[in-house]
Order: sequence, then structure tokens, then C-alpha cells
Amino acid sequence: GQTFEEHFHYLGGARFLGFEKGMAKVKQKKETFYIEAKVYIGAEGRSSPTRKAMNADVKRKDYNHHFLTVTMPRPASYTKGKIITTADRFLGLFPLPDNEVRTVYLIKAGEYKTIKEKGLEYLYQAYSELEPELSEGVRTIDDWKKVQLMIPYTYHVDKYYSGNLAIIGDAAHTVHPMAGEGMNLAVQDADVLGELLAWCKENNENYHEYLHYYEDVRKPRVSSLLHLSHLSALVYSFRFEWWRKVRMRAVQRIYDDDQLHVKQMLNISGLGAWNFNLLDRAIQGSVLPARRKKIKDKTQWKYLFSESEDYPWEKEN
Ligand SMILES: Cc1cc2nc3c(=O)[nH]c(=O)nc-3n(C[C@H](O)[C@H](O)[C@H](O)COP(=O)(O)OP(=O)(O)OC[C@H]3O[C@@H](n4cnc5c(N)ncnc54)[C@H](O)[C@@H]3O)c2cc1C
Repeated sequence: GQTFEEHFHYLGGARFLGFEKGMAKVKQKKETFYIEAKVYIGAEGRSSPTRKAMNADVKRKDYNHHFLTVTMPRPASYTKGKIITTADRFLGLFPLPDNEVRTVYLIKAGEYKTIKEKGLEYLYQAYSELEPELSEGVRTIDDWKKVQLMIPYTYHVDKYYSGNLAIIGDAAHTVHPMAGEGMNLAVQDADVLGELLAWCKENNENYHEYLHYYEDVRKPRVSSLLHLSHLSALVYSFRFEWWRKVRMRAVQRIYDDDQLHVKQMLNISGLGAWNFNLLDRAIQGSVLPARRKKIKDKTQWKYLFSESEDYPWEKEN
């Protein structure tokens, strides 16, 4: 932004209030003013005034669980990410710099209040049982204010643009955090839309006539990713010991079978698409044995999105 000062203006602490007479109404400190533009992009996250102005439909789907997230000290040698599960518990551990670890602990939806009433000792106990190496670290949490409640839910808007308004990232879609895709999706939206807007500017074209390309490229891709993410979330939603065993075997299969591994990573990254078929699922469910065959780089390249798939307007116009 600083490199292109004459084009890029950062209004720190400003709040976008909505549209009035085709202009964006913005409040900064006590001052309210209007900004007029040829195209407006809403990137305001889950509660988006731009989405509201577009009258986009949002159908929120909730899950049967919530998460507590908290950062705590870790031993210096604790540098590998881990997911620890039992039949009814889940603890995700993601080491950070400076000998800290970000943790995600699954609780039942609505259970937060009762857990809080039980006191921090409940948290100390739960963490120490699941990961004894963090039993010292968790005891440094001395206030519930350090613990955040994360409520996972998902939605996908019915349209990405309307007239000269468009939305990107969480304003358009939100995913269950299980596979960590939210940030990727937002960046990939920004890439496609950014290239499209730049192309319109360079070619002196009206932005609103071309915004459909952004939706054409991104919406189906996001849909299939949301589906995958929803499946991952369901996999961790059932609390039975036999289900935990099935889940562990299914995850192990992703390591044992190269084709499953390649498909999983490619699809989750959003950089390409190679759909799972019945054979893959039978192997993942241990109905059939894992394949020995390794997937060649050349084969993987075939399933990456090409430039003409990412930016189709360049060829078509
Ligand atoms: C607790 C939690 C953990 C997560 N963990 C992960 C993870 O591990 N990996 C991952 O990939 N994703 C994760 N996500 C999802 C990820 O944070 C989002 O998908 C991503 O940040 C979306 O980016 P965005 O730019 O669309 O929205 P945001 O990052 O939400 O940014 C929106 C910005 O707009 C500002 N804003 C909102 N309204 C207005 C307004 N009216 N005027 C002016 N500014 C406004 C907000 O202050 C904010 O700065 C997590 C989400 C949550 C809630």
C-alpha cells in the first residue's frame, strides 16, 4: 500500500456504515463522510454491510460443538503440531514462536458457561490428562479472559456480486475451522477479483459488466471446499469409541495411500481439484487395501488450476 500511495489510501480506525445514494458512508473518529467509487469490494468478514446492501442470502449452519482457544507456554522441544482425540474429546496443538503453543479444545455446544463455573482447575485437568507435557503451561492461564470461545458455523452466500458491489472472504463464505481453509479462501478470492479489476482498468472496461467472472470462477470452487470442510467437521462431531477408531484408520490411510494424500492436500489447498471417487473412499474406509503406486509430479500438475481457469476473461475478451 505504501508503495502506491497515490492510489492506495488507508483510513485507520474508519468504519464503513453502508451505502447512501450510491456512495459509501464512512465514519472516522467523529467525522462522517462519503466515498464514491466505480466499484466497491466488501471484505468486512462475517458481518458485512456490503453483503447486506447486496441483499445476499445467508443460511447459517451450526455444529454440535464449540471450541475453547488459548495460547500458553510450551517446552522448547515441543515443536510439532498435534491433534489428540479420545471418544469424546479433542485437543489441537499448534506450536508458535517464542516457546508458545496455540491450543484448540473441543466442548459441547452451549457447555461454555458450565465449564467456566467449574473454574480453571477443570481446564488444567483436561489439558494435563490429554497432553501431560503442557500441564505446567496450562497452569499459567490465570484468567478466563485469556480463553476465547470459538463458535464454528458455515454459510455460503447465494451471490458474490450485485451491480457494482462484490464481496470476498468471510463476507461471502465461512468454513468450519477444522481444516484451516478460511484464510486461503479469502486470499484466493482476492487474487481472482484483484486480477479481474486490474484487467478492467487496463482495458478501460466497466467493472460491473465483468464481475460475473469472479463469481463464475470462485463460487463452484468454494462450494466444493465447503463441502469437504463440512465432512471433516462431521468426522469430529460423533462421540463413540468405535467412531474414533474408524476416524484414526481413515486418517492413517491418507498417509498410506499416495493418491488419497495428493487428492486431500490438493483439494484442501484450493489450488486444484481432483475429486474423490468410490475406490478412494473404499480404500479410506479400509474396505480395500492401500495402493502402493506413487503419484508422479506430472500427474499432479494436470489437476492444478491453470491460468486460463483462474482468469478466463483474458482469453474470452
Ligand atoms: C477463532 C478463529 C480461528 C480461526 N483460525 C483459522 C486458521 O487457523 N486458519 C485459517 O485459515 N483460518 C482461520 N480462521 C478463519 C479466518 O480468520 C478467516 O477466514 C479470514 O480471516 C477471513 O478473512 P477476511 O479478510 O475475509 O475477513 P477478516 O479477517 O474477518 O477481516 C475483516 C476486517 O474487516 C474489518 N471490518 C468489519 N466490518 C467493518 C466495517 N463496517 N468497516 C470497516 N472495517 C470493518 C474487521 O475489523 C476486520 O479487520 C479462524 C477464524 C476464527 C474466528
